[in-house]
Amino acid sequence: MRTFDLKALLSAPHTYSADEHEQVVLFQDPCSDLRAMVAIHSTALGPALGGTRFYPYADDEQALTDVLRLSRGMSYKNAMAGLPFGGGKAVIIGDPGRIKTEELLTAFGTFVSTLEGRYVTACDVGTGTADMDVIARTCRWTATCSSVNGGGGDPSIHTALGVLQGIRAAAFHRWGTPSLQDRTVGVAGVGKVGHRLVEHLFREGARVVITDVQAEPVRRVMEKFPRITVVEDTEALIQHKGMDIYAPCALGGTLDEAVVPLLTADIVCGAANNQLAHPGVERLLADRGILYLPDYVVNAGGVIHAAGELRWATPGRSMAKVEKIFDTTLTILKRAEAENILPGAAADRIAEQLIASAEGPQPKAGPSRPR
Ligand code: NAD
Repeated sequence: MRTFDLKALLSAPHTYSADEHEQVVLFQDPCSDLRAMVAIHSTALGPALGGTRFYPYADDEQALTDVLRLSRGMSYKNAMAGLPFGGGKAVIIGDPGRIKTEELLTAFGTFVSTLEGRYVTACDVGTGTADMDVIARTCRWTATCSSVNGGGGDPSIHTALGVLQGIRAAAFHRWGTPSLQDRTVGVAGVGKVGHRLVEHLFREGARVVITDVQAEPVRRVMEKFPRITVVEDTEALIQHKGMDIYAPCALGGTLDEAVVPLLTADIVCGAANNQLAHPGVERLLADRGILYLPDYVVNAGGVIHAAGELRWATPGRSMAKVEKIFDTTLTILKRAEAENILPGAAADRIAEQLIASAEGPQPKAGPSRPR
C-alpha cells in the first residue's frame, strides 16, 4: 500500500490553506488499503458535520486540497442553513468501484471514532446509505444510514427539494413570481438529485431539458416523462435556445470563462457543489445579466436532513427547514442588492457573521443518535 508522504503534503501549495482549519487528520490502514483524510474546518457552531467522499484522486495533494475546500464549504453551508453543526469533511482515496470493501469501511469507522464526535460523517459522492450502515458498525458518529438501521436514508430527496426552493426564489427575484409554469429549465446530470429535481419541475409546470454522460439515468427519466427533451451533452444544454434556468446537478467546476459566454439561461441554480471554476466566474455571469445562486445555499437540503436525523428526528421538521431555503435565498439576494455586491459575497458575509458570532470551538459534542 502507498503510504502518505507527509513532507510532500506539507510542502505542496494548496489553493485552500490548512491554517484556518482546526484539525486535519490522515489515516492509513495497510490491512484494508484504506487511506483517508478528515478535515475539521470549524466546530464553532457544533460538531463538524459533512460527508465522506470516496474518489480516485490523481494524487494525495489533490485529495488534501479537496478535503480542505469541502470542509470549509460545509462550515458555510451548515451556518447558512441554521444548523447546530460546524464544518468538516472526509475523503477516502481510491476508486470505490475497485477498493470499497466492508473491511475498509469498518476501518474507516474506527478511524472516525477516534475523533470522538468532533466530526460526524454522512454520504457523499462515492458513498451511499448502505456504506454508512457498514461504517456505523464501528462508529456511532454517522448520519444518513438506511432507515432499517435507524437512519434517515438517502439525503438526495431533501437536496432536490431545496434546489427547487432556490430556483423558485430566484424566479421571484428576477420575474416577480415564483411560478415556474412554462419556464424552461435545463438539468445537467440526472442522478440521485437531478432526477428528483426533474420530477419537482414537471409538477411546477416547467418545461425540462436534460443531459447526462450516462445512458441509464436518462433512460430512467424518460421512462417517467417520455416527452422530455434530451440533448446530447452539457455543451448543447448550456446553449439551448429559450432556456430560462440552468441547473448544474453533476460535478463541480463546470462554469468557467469558456462556458459563461455561451449560456442562454437567465438564472443558474443547481445542486452541484463548487459550480464555479473560481469565484471570479460569478462576476462574468453578472456582467452578462445572469443571476447565480450560491450552490452551498440551495443544496443544503441533504445536510439539513442529516442534521435532523441527529438532532430532532422528525422528518416533517427537516422538510419544513428545507423549504426555508426559499426565504434564505431571498434574504441573500436582497442583501446583495442593498450592499451592491454579488450574491456569492452576500452569502459568504452572512455565513461568516454567523460563525464569528458563535462562542468558539466546541471540544466534544457527540450527537445522540440512539443505537
Ligand atoms: P449522482 O452521482 O447520483 O448524479 C450525478 C449525475 O451526473 C450522474 O448521473 C452522472 O452520470 C452525471 N454526470 C457526470 N458528469 C456529467 C457531465 N459532464 N455532464 C452531464 N452529466 C454528468 O450525484 P448526486 O448525488 O445526484 O449529486 C449531484 C451533485 O450534487 C454533486 O455535485 C454533489 O456533490 C451535489 N450534492 C449532492 C447532494 C445529495 O444529497 N446527493 C447534496 C449536496 C450536493
